[in-house]
Amino acid sequence: MHNSPNSLAFNDGWQYAPAPESTDHISLEKQFDLFIGGKFVAPEEGRYFETINPATEEQIASVGLATQTDVDRAVKAARKAFAGPWSKMKAAERGKYIYRIARMLQERSREFAVIESLDGGKPIRESRDIDIPLAAAHFFYYAGWADKLEYAFPGRNVAALGVAGQIIPWNFPLLMAAWKIAPALACGNTVVLKPAESTPLTALKLAEIVQEAGLPPGVVNIVTGAGETGAAIVNHADVDKVAFTGSTEVGRIIQRALAGTSKKYTLELGGKAANIIFADAAIDQAVEGIVNGIFFNQGHVCCAGSRLFVQESAVDEVVRKLKDRMETLIIGDPLDKNTDIGAINSAGQLETIESYLSLGREEGAEMYQSSCAVPERGYWCRPTIFTGVSQSNRIVQEEIFGPVLAIQTFRTLEEGLSKANNTPYGLSGGVWTDKGAKIFKMTQKLRAGVVWANTFNKFDPTSPFGGYKESGVGREGGLHGLDAYLKLEAR
Ligand code: NAP
Ligand code: MG
Repeated sequence: MHNSPNSLAFNDGWQYAPAPESTDHISLEKQFDLFIGGKFVAPEEGRYFETINPATEEQIASVGLATQTDVDRAVKAARKAFAGPWSKMKAAERGKYIYRIARMLQERSREFAVIESLDGGKPIRESRDIDIPLAAAHFFYYAGWADKLEYAFPGRNVAALGVAGQIIPWNFPLLMAAWKIAPALACGNTVVLKPAESTPLTALKLAEIVQEAGLPPGVVNIVTGAGETGAAIVNHADVDKVAFTGSTEVGRIIQRALAGTSKKYTLELGGKAANIIFADAAIDQAVEGIVNGIFFNQGHVCCAGSRLFVQESAVDEVVRKLKDRMETLIIGDPLDKNTDIGAINSAGQLETIESYLSLGREEGAEMYQSSCAVPERGYWCRPTIFTGVSQSNRIVQEEIFGPVLAIQTFRTLEEGLSKANNTPYGLSGGVWTDKGAKIFKMTQKLRAGVVWANTFNKFDPTSPFGGYKESGVGREGGLHGLDAYLKLEAR
């Protein structure tokens, strides 16, 4: 049996044959311009930057670097479209365009899945089964709301806000673009969106769909660039609403910049979710839930279950089974359908994760990693657990955004609850138990926007998502996600 260079054997017994997804069916330009006013246009200063494949460190394409002038052009195009065709269009017609985007995404889902995995390093199984279908589902869901907004908010007048500036991170590039664009358009706004520097490609491919779907020019504009491009959107005087998903650190900068302005904003920020396992839980399923919660997608998930709390009498069994399961995880080529853990998104993120691995050991915690080999090129991190940690350790308090799990124990429900809530974040959490009453007690008292019971990391466009405390401001998804893009007035 042979292996492709990146797909490595995971244990000494047997191994899967490589099953790489074909890339023949994708067409990817070598250079992408900015998408402004319905056209791809060169950046004003003519500067471009490279996006790479983090699994091979090879360059994939170069992408336009949008300056403040480019952002201004995009905002002007969005304003013109808002004042012109978009706000005059019947809501049902607007809905049809959004449905069209959803269908076209579905039709091109294989292509989008491959590009997502190439650009960001996530396993094809995840981009194929989660990111792309959920992105399409989001457009379908909000398309349905476009002509029913008055029923969503009975007794109130609803009006679009105007131009929405939207800034997204690299962990779910297309899905985050869908979370932002779909509700904005359904509510009658126009948008200027900036994808993350390291994963701009699926947003630019989405721009092609927007163009082919025949949306009026300027309704959707995509500008690529780094943090300064994002800041230029946030600080543009003619932006009515800012929607940001990213780190709490940048969220704070944005909140400060918006203080005292009339701009409406939503901030979806970091997390340090607790996954809480009671001794009466179905332990095998819970172990799968832990793995799914922190190791899949390399732990690059804002709501990753990065803190594990196990009831003391079950901790030996859970840790033993978790270590066994970690040994079977396949790390390697993101395009291989058998891969469980792909590449870390960038060299910078790998450095951050590795600094936390050293810090954890310095703090006196015991580190365990699965023994799998990792490919020579690219950015990789083995699934890692820390035991012997305490509440005050930085690896327990701070978001690592990698496949790194800190394990603690508790005796009573109250102890588990207070340890789980001892965090500046509050995005998500998980509870595993056989007893419904415990689930209700825990879900009511966990200070987190989303709590899963006997499952983890499940998403649906109809369900609102967002954080408590330092995890953010506002909700996206569901009915609540409409509120963020509308002016609501008493009739
Ligand atoms: P990040 O560094 O905050 O970047 C997010 C986006 O903001 C990127 O497009 C970034 O551009 C841009 N940006 C950077 N500095 C900016 C500034 N001063 N003004 C305006 N925009 C700026 O976050 P990240 O490292 O990409 O993503 C990981 C973080 O996102 C994690 O903390 C994670 O928890 C969070 N996240 C939260 C959710 C949620 O729903 N709550 C979902 C996913 C991720 P560049 O790409 O050029 O840096
Ligand atoms: Mg990339």
